[in-house]
Amino acid sequence: MPEMLVIRPPSEWRSLLVRLTRGCKWNRCRFCGIYPHLGVPDFSVRTVDEVKHDIDLLSRLRPSAETAFFGDADPLEIGLAPFCDIARYLRSVFPLKRLTCYARASTLSRLGREDVKTLARAGLNRVHMGLESGDARTLQFHRKGQSPAMVTRVAAWLKEAGIEVSLYVLLGLGGRDHWQEHITATAKVINAAEPEFVRIRRLWLYGDGSGIAGAECPLWREIHAGTFVPQTPEGTVQELRLLLVSLDEPATFFACDHENNYVHVSGMLNEDRQEMLAEIEAFLALPTEQKEARYAAVGSRI
Ligand code: SF4
Repeated sequence: MPEMLVIRPPSEWRSLLVRLTRGCKWNRCRFCGIYPHLGVPDFSVRTVDEVKHDIDLLSRLRPSAETAFFGDADPLEIGLAPFCDIARYLRSVFPLKRLTCYARASTLSRLGREDVKTLARAGLNRVHMGLESGDARTLQFHRKGQSPAMVTRVAAWLKEAGIEVSLYVLLGLGGRDHWQEHITATAKVINAAEPEFVRIRRLWLYGDGSGIAGAECPLWREIHAGTFVPQTPEGTVQELRLLLVSLDEPATFFACDHENNYVHVSGMLNEDRQEMLAEIEAFLALPTEQKEARYAAVGSRI
């Protein structure tokens, strides 16, 4: 059997899932810890032969697949040459219209502008990248290992190479004390990068923070130490509103395409921004009991 991928974007639900690496090499973001939580504590790299063997097996199961996704968190850590070798092989086997992967901004930054073009020539045509926040202080606090300028620069390289950019934003990452800085700086990076997609998620504090009931989000330590105050559900929706108010109107698809969002707006920024804002305003104007019911029903989940 081909090896199973642990995490993929919801938009890749129909894609072939091809695992080049396991887990996350960085594995330091305070808000994450997700791979260890899901049973992949260590990072490892698969061989090109192993991956090609998976591709051969997949070709018997779904020979006409048109989209594919490489995992896990940062498959470019396999190295440029093996990554491109696998991408070319995959494209020779399947009639692919789209090949995507997650990528850390710092890994792309290390590769450089010319190697990003090499990725495009090998057939990569969309990258899912965790911006999380455009606020330098927030990124530093959460040990994301990237700067706002780095994300903007890398997004420009990707676009120049013809690779679509899908940026992920985490509402709540600034906590209750820094949410406005978090959101306004995030909007600034998005306005500069003009990605093809912006995808919204909400900070997920898994575990109960007791330290005794199994795996829990590393951020609980900061919460107990008083260095991070979690955002309220209502504040999270206000963050979404502020983000939309602060964004320009490029041809970017904006989507709350994850179950853990309290309000699921989606649309093109250059066409649907006002409608999305109206939907958020309408939600915020609901009676408190109705909003509380939504917050309780959504809960936290991956
Ligand atoms: S957010 Fe991404 S880079 Fe950070 S630890 Fe989690 S998987 Fe790794």
